[in-house]
Amino acid sequence: MPVIKRKDEFDWEGVPVLAYKEDGTHFKSITRRILFKGADELPSEVRYFEIAPGGHSTLERHEHLHVVIIQRGRGEILLGNQIHEVNPFDVIEIPSNTWHQFRATRNEPFGFLCIVNINRDRPHRPDTSEAENLKKDPEISTFIRL
Ligand code: MN
Repeated sequence: MPVIKRKDEFDWEGVPVLAYKEDGTHFKSITRRILFKGADELPSEVRYFEIAPGGHSTLERHEHLHVVIIQRGRGEILLGNQIHEVNPFDVIEIPSNTWHQFRATRNEPFGFLCIVNINRDRPHRPDTSEAENLKKDPEISTFIRL
């Protein structure tokens, strides 16, 4: 697939819309498209995620890094102990072992590209004491969805 043609805004020819994750109730109204599956010479995936208004990704952390480039709409992200409003073309590096969650807090779809290694550890969700720690900050407590 040397060229994947755009089918529509934020949609591509031959690229199916997938579930964000196989199952779970710790995310809401989010889809995934795989734009690049990786190759021996470039063992990374490029995915496009889109969150419908009111939706959110999983609150998680892991060893692997993400690079995220916002494509569509405004949204908010928790990154470590900070909440950021982000806009199209903003670039976010999510470091190793850093709590992160994406929320479509405006009344519009919130879409972003995410680049990751093919070989990566599984995400880890906060356990009870980690969740309590996060909630000590009132702003984070209001923001996060568990
Ligand atoms: Mn992640």
